Amino acid sequence: MYDKKEFMTELERKNPSEPEFIQAVSEVLDSVIDIVNEDPEYVDAKILERITEPDRTFMFKVEWEDDNGEIQVNKGYRVQFNNSIGPYKGGLRFHPSVTLGTLKFLGFEQIFKNSLTTLPMGGGKGGSDFNPKGKSDAEILRFCRSFMTELQKYIGPETDVPAGDVGVGSREIGYLYGQYKRLRVENTGVLTGKGRNWGGSLVRPEATGYGTMYFADEIVREHGDTFKGKRIAVSGFGNVAWGACIKATQLGGKVVTISGPDGYVLDEDGINTQEKWDYMLELRASNNDVVEPYAKKFGAKFFAGRKPWEEKVDMAFPCAFQNELNIDDAKQLVANGISYVIETSNMGCTTEAVNYFIDKKIPFGPGKAANAGGVAVSGLEMSQNAMKYSWSAEEVDGKLKIIMKDIHEACVREGKQADGYVNYVRGANIAGFKKVADAMLDLGY
Ligand code: GLU
Repeated sequence: MYDKKEFMTELERKNPSEPEFIQAVSEVLDSVIDIVNEDPEYVDAKILERITEPDRTFMFKVEWEDDNGEIQVNKGYRVQFNNSIGPYKGGLRFHPSVTLGTLKFLGFEQIFKNSLTTLPMGGGKGGSDFNPKGKSDAEILRFCRSFMTELQKYIGPETDVPAGDVGVGSREIGYLYGQYKRLRVENTGVLTGKGRNWGGSLVRPEATGYGTMYFADEIVREHGDTFKGKRIAVSGFGNVAWGACIKATQLGGKVVTISGPDGYVLDEDGINTQEKWDYMLELRASNNDVVEPYAKKFGAKFFAGRKPWEEKVDMAFPCAFQNELNIDDAKQLVANGISYVIETSNMGCTTEAVNYFIDKKIPFGPGKAANAGGVAVSGLEMSQNAMKYSWSAEEVDGKLKIIMKDIHEACVREGKQADGYVNYVRGANIAGFKKVADAMLDLGY
């Protein structure tokens, strides 16, 4: 029998100074410890010790030259967490805050997210403490080349398939894939998020944002409600927020906020035109990491140093970074009458905030379910690469919709409480966990 407190004390001893990893494990254990303890097979197999230890982690040096001819050194990582149900799969994050602990949290979450997609993908994550902000295109290229020179030793289309995450978009995937091809002389789909002319899948750029809105639409329907006319707060202004703004608009909602590290924009007219969406992409591509120019360009309001959660809205979608929505934000949203919170960033809400929403019986979609559309379409990109074939946008979008519907169904199946409240956190964790844990039992130790 597992005792959560004892287990977590030991985990913290073994993984010191990795608070986000500890938080991610603790949240999953809250949901699954009962079902583990009820099944002697799981307990005897030491399933929790085994599922919380990555299969292997690579840490390497990334040396590159900046535009002034100065040598720079960054840390590079790849965490291959669990490949019980398929090749390691998960993004690369380039951000100055990245540590091994960050990537272990993301890799751990990725195991269950990928399991929820219904596709055969294991969990992995990688990245670097490299800061893309203010870097020239040539610097990004040199960094990516150096990073891939080392990473290519550990990955392959049947082994481990990285993709993008914060700080890694289509440009970076291009430079990384270019170097992989140069070194390995292989034109295989070893990365996803590729450009459409060189092996990428249609709808991959939109997939995370579209997927979260398909998932949200299912939640709204489950509650006998409609998406039409909903006032929506989105945070972030990158690829995920962009796709979210487009699909929310198409579903009849009105997104009124986006945000950056500098503050948030309130656009009462809605972030709902092609021109505004295109401008979001331009802002992101500029590498300045500020959202204020949007307010200037479109005559919207800008609140420096503040978060969009102070706005009165019906639905909130954190789409930026881990722990971006804390307990004070959660209380403010609830006081303002929020109806739904759909976490789209990985672990976007603190544990306290999640528990507060659940206590208040607010339908809360956890990131590992809501944002699974991104990696799901990455899985579809892998299928298309393996077949040397490509599907139309309608085909990919149709499959994405079905996957998000299935994830929602799994959450309801495992998470519906006796009082009718659907605890999506519990549902997603149990559904994601069972499949991987059962595969681990089948495969032996
Ligand atoms: N980084 C994304 C995630 O958090 C996508 C990963 C992928 O496409 O492999 O799921």
